[in-house]
Amino acid sequence: MTPTAMTDRSPFAGMELWFLTGSQDMYGEETLQQVAAQARDVAEALDRAEQIPVRIVSEPVLTSAAAIRRLCYQAAQDDRCIGVIAWMHTFSPAKMWITGLQVLGKPLLHLHTQANRSLPWSTIDMDFMNLNQAAHGDREFAYVQTRLGLERKTVFGHVEDPGVVSAVGAWARAAAGSHALRNLRLARFGDNMRNVAVTEGDKVEAEARFGVAVDTWGVNDLVAKVEQVSDAAVDSLVAEYDSRYEVAAILRPNGERRQSLRVAAAIELGLRAFLEPGGFGAFTTNFEDLGALRQLPGIAVQRLMADGYGFGGEGDWKTSALLRAVKVMGYGLPGGASFMEDYTYHLGPGVPKTLGAHMLEVCPSIAGDRPSCELHPLSIGGREDPVRLVFDASPGPALTVGMADLGSRFRLVASVIDTVGPDEPLPELPVARAVWTSRPDLATAARSWLSAGGPHHTVYSSAINPEILDDFATMADVELALIDERTTVPGFRQALRWNAAWFHLKQGL
Ligand code: MN
Repeated sequence: MTPTAMTDRSPFAGMELWFLTGSQDMYGEETLQQVAAQARDVAEALDRAEQIPVRIVSEPVLTSAAAIRRLCYQAAQDDRCIGVIAWMHTFSPAKMWITGLQVLGKPLLHLHTQANRSLPWSTIDMDFMNLNQAAHGDREFAYVQTRLGLERKTVFGHVEDPGVVSAVGAWARAAAGSHALRNLRLARFGDNMRNVAVTEGDKVEAEARFGVAVDTWGVNDLVAKVEQVSDAAVDSLVAEYDSRYEVAAILRPNGERRQSLRVAAAIELGLRAFLEPGGFGAFTTNFEDLGALRQLPGIAVQRLMADGYGFGGEGDWKTSALLRAVKVMGYGLPGGASFMEDYTYHLGPGVPKTLGAHMLEVCPSIAGDRPSCELHPLSIGGREDPVRLVFDASPGPALTVGMADLGSRFRLVASVIDTVGPDEPLPELPVARAVWTSRPDLATAARSWLSAGGPHHTVYSSAINPEILDDFATMADVELALIDERTTVPGFRQALRWNAAWFHLKQGL
């Protein structure tokens, strides 16, 4: 498995979730065989579920502290295992789980389920009661998880219940995103935009918290790759542009600015030649530091994002890393994910809206229609006019999420939105954009976001939902300040204060 490979291959390929069933020897061989068979049935039902994109591997029933510890060590060490699902079908005295859980170090889901959906009212006897004990067996297990301070997700219900499968699926996606971030290498071309505060942050803490390795290269290392690109490779890529996008007349084969399209294509090929062999899954650029690059990368960045790369403009490595994780979490779901910035507001008439965009770098995975490929001047950066894809984002529910470094810890701030499209066409706007309303309303959402110190750069996703994000935050053990239809400004501000105390106390000395 190469977690940073940006190919058509599913990022979930090779990943596994291990299904652990707890019991004890006291029940005797016959009952334990029933436990094993029914546990396999549950694991297989989860494995078959389309909503769970990661393979579920059924492990033998665990009946002793030594066996539990051994399996937890294996789970901890095995790169394929991205998380563990645990269920106590019978009663598994939970002191047996303590030393195993202490070495696990992987995302944990407690599935509080039962093999039988219905009680056999007329025939129920003590054999049935002995076998189907999750109602209290899982309570014993939950106590020890809580006692050990383990962050986990608890899911309740029968495995045939669509809500159960959906909850496990959300968690599986979060585990995959978390795993991808743990294995992520991020290349920064240049540093952060001068004087900007929120794009700064503690890269050592980011690696300790999320696993992502963030390192800087001189932009001319990238230029060297661009200069090595062959004319034949450029020919082939501009032909792909011609076929995939509505290419503006001046950029077409005999157009007067065709050469600009070729320069853009060479930048894309150079970026790929740098990132692919280096095993990078995310990167940043900075318009203040373009070295000998002839254009600020526009279409190149857009297309790399569409292939699954994380990206942040102006050196914003936190948003870039987060975008890569969101790309993985949303893989295969309808919709897409992009680097985004809250750009400008429509305060009325009508429902107040946000127009989100960036100078160039919006991912076509969120496009509603076929993008047009255009050339326009850029007032900043001091280079040649950059080629970019222009489109309106597809309407529908979405979210934005940003990461702030509060000095002692990271905070994720997320806002649930509804992308609605512009009130009128935007013929003069030369960048891709998304126009959305916020839940519960723009005033509440904006006041809450600003109260949390949320960044202006975000990851926009029309693929993942807040549940996936919440599971992801739980795995990374970072705060998620979520703004949705239930949010009130006083309640949100109160939650920020409580969270500040909680995370401060939890961090300890
Ligand atoms: Mn920006």
